[in-house]
Amino acid sequence: MTDTLASAVSATVGVPQERRVITAIPGPKSLALHERRNKVVASGAASGFPIYVDHAHGGILVDVDGNQFIDLGSGIGVTTIGHTHDGVVAAASRQVGELTHGLFTITPYEGYVQVAELLAKHTPGNFAKKTVLVNSGAEAVENGVKIARKYTGRRAVAVLDHAFHGRTNLTMAMNYKAMPYGLGFGPFASDIHHAPNSYPYHDGLSGAEAAERTIAFLEKTVGASDLACIVAEPIQGEGGFMVPADGYLNALQEWCTKNGVVFIADEIQAGMARTGKYFASEHFGLEPDLVLSAKGIAGGLPLAAVTGRAEIMDAAHPGGLGGTFGGNPVSTAAAVAVFEAIERDNLLAEAVRIENTLRPQLERLKSKYDIIGDIRGKGAMIAIEFVQPGTGATSKLPNAQAVASISKFAFEHGVILLTAGTYGNVIRFLPSLAVSDELLLDSIGVIEEALSAL
Ligand SMILES: *Cc1c(COP(=O)(O)O)cnc(C)c1O
Repeated sequence: MTDTLASAVSATVGVPQERRVITAIPGPKSLALHERRNKVVASGAASGFPIYVDHAHGGILVDVDGNQFIDLGSGIGVTTIGHTHDGVVAAASRQVGELTHGLFTITPYEGYVQVAELLAKHTPGNFAKKTVLVNSGAEAVENGVKIARKYTGRRAVAVLDHAFHGRTNLTMAMNYKAMPYGLGFGPFASDIHHAPNSYPYHDGLSGAEAAERTIAFLEKTVGASDLACIVAEPIQGEGGFMVPADGYLNALQEWCTKNGVVFIADEIQAGMARTGKYFASEHFGLEPDLVLSAKGIAGGLPLAAVTGRAEIMDAAHPGGLGGTFGGNPVSTAAAVAVFEAIERDNLLAEAVRIENTLRPQLERLKSKYDIIGDIRGKGAMIAIEFVQPGTGATSKLPNAQAVASISKFAFEHGVILLTAGTYGNVIRFLPSLAVSDELLLDSIGVIEEALSAL
């Protein structure tokens, strides 16, 4: 080990992996910071859980008051392999001392190439693939659409109901929900078409039936020959972790292939070992033409990617893709460390362990509380949909109040529990793969207390 590497490793903070609430939440130091922040930080960048984080490790966040939170959100599925993972800390620290910027499109460096090689290897499909690296998920979506349009020479883009794709101008138009993502921020990009999705809990359709509905909609309202691409999350994230009915996405892709439409999987939330596979598409045997990665790819450093069939990726002319910070050397070094950790520590199995621990507990709660309507998801991406009392077998009316109360109760008791869903009636678990069964069971205890306090 070199000296720099040794000191980088010892710079990793050690945090006992336990929940500890020692002040009111938020504590006095967080409240003071919040007051400062309110004077200078734009209100639009609101914080759902306003404890100010001092440091973190594994599955625990430590705030400025010394409270320790079980982090079941991982910054929305970003620190998938755990906060301050030793491998990421070492690789990024070393890289900071060697090269922080080269601009790949001016003077390239190896890390970018390594990440492209790793993505070619681990994204589904045994064909020649190429990658472009960018900074954020939304930017990956933008580039995926750009490339599909250039490749097909077509203009229209299809997305699915309940989708979330980002906060840039194009991606605002691709989201399902206007509030908070788009309201008042238009005019929006044109030629975006919102098609019905597969939402088995509500539509009761088989994959084939749901696909028929989606395809009929697109043929009627757009026309296949004008369609450049369909962008779909294999398991929808912000929408509430909807796992589509079996065969749904496969039928969509088959239709795309038949009609020269590029099939783009937005794996930004579901990808990178989150669901027990490298990419959620693998659960359905899908081989998307293009795969979008971001969130979990670099252990918390900003990085995103478009990876796909070489002939589609190469449709964009030289100079047509890029950006100043895209594929930053520190981010790519961290991403290489993430891939190494997934392999070395068999983290796909950890995602399965998390599901095996959570699911029976959630099913137990479901049998006890009739406001729990549905439990769904895969691996370390599991959600509960809440309904109004007595409507679980009929109208399944959304129960956002229960979700807000449970999330608030959990927060005050040291558990960061994210919400989701078009109607705000979903609780989602996105823990890091480093979270222990003890921490998961402790969190379930808190959630059960919250449920009985409702
Ligand atoms: C978070 C997310 C995005 C946007 O990523 P940003 O990095 O926030 O721009 C796009 N698609 C999905 C599925 C996401 O979860």
